[in-house]
Amino acid sequence: MDVILEVKNISKSYEDITVFENLSLTVKKGEVVVIVGPSGCGKSTFLRCINALESIQDGEILLDGEAIDASSKELPRIREKIGMVFQSYDLFPHLTILQNLMLAPVKVKKTPKAEAEKEALSLLDRVGLLSKKDNFPRQLSGGQKQRVAIVRALMMHPEILLLDEITAALDPEMVREVLDVVLSLAKEGRTMVIVTHEMQFARAVADRMVFIDGGKIVEEGSAQEFFDDPKTERLRQFLNSFSYD
Ligand code: ADP
Ligand code: MG
Repeated sequence: MDVILEVKNISKSYEDITVFENLSLTVKKGEVVVIVGPSGCGKSTFLRCINALESIQDGEILLDGEAIDASSKELPRIREKIGMVFQSYDLFPHLTILQNLMLAPVKVKKTPKAEAEKEALSLLDRVGLLSKKDNFPRQLSGGQKQRVAIVRALMMHPEILLLDEITAALDPEMVREVLDVVLSLAKEGRTMVIVTHEMQFARAVADRMVFIDGGKIVEEGSAQEFFDDPKTERLRQFLNSFSYD
């Protein structure tokens, strides 16, 4: 498999606190990497660095061999290859679902409107929300809005998707419908880096699990090794803090 993302020895600090040092991660095309770790360990910061939403103090991030550098003129073009979905859906409240989905492709990618609309409708259909196309975000449930946010990311044809705790703000009964969409994306071979606290989902979706704690990757491995045979005491403790139903 070809390497798509290479994070090499990156370090990140905010004024007086070091979030992580010398963190490295390689992601291959089609691979699903799931990152877990205690709250505040730097998972969101790590994803934001990949997308150059945060600057790094040291190290290098390459996407398809091209440096992601906050000061590069090429950044907007390279960033288009990265889709990101956050905990908050951030849909435009005054635009309909269809308008929200067409906005970036038409404005940024100069996709013809008819083409963007066709794709938006087909993706909405796929996530079970075609009937909501003319509704406004406030008329949708949290789970529906998050499915729209995933579709919005897909509309840009990203080479890699970064998902940051996308079900953390949802009522429990809506978590499943969102995770099912992510599982179907994994099945079709999408490259994804996923931060989640949903351990059963992580196990089902991950090609590789990564545990970050104290600014370092403490352990990584296949989902089976990771969950059934953790090597470090820290990971064992972390996994024990989740109850499985
Ligand atoms: P996680 O997503 O794993 O919960 P974060 O990446 O959000 O962790 O945060 C990692 C650490 O960086 C935390 O200690 C947090 O308080 C700190 N941090 C995050 N964003 C900022 C910021 N903009 N300024 C200062 N500190 C920050
Ligand atoms: Mg976070």
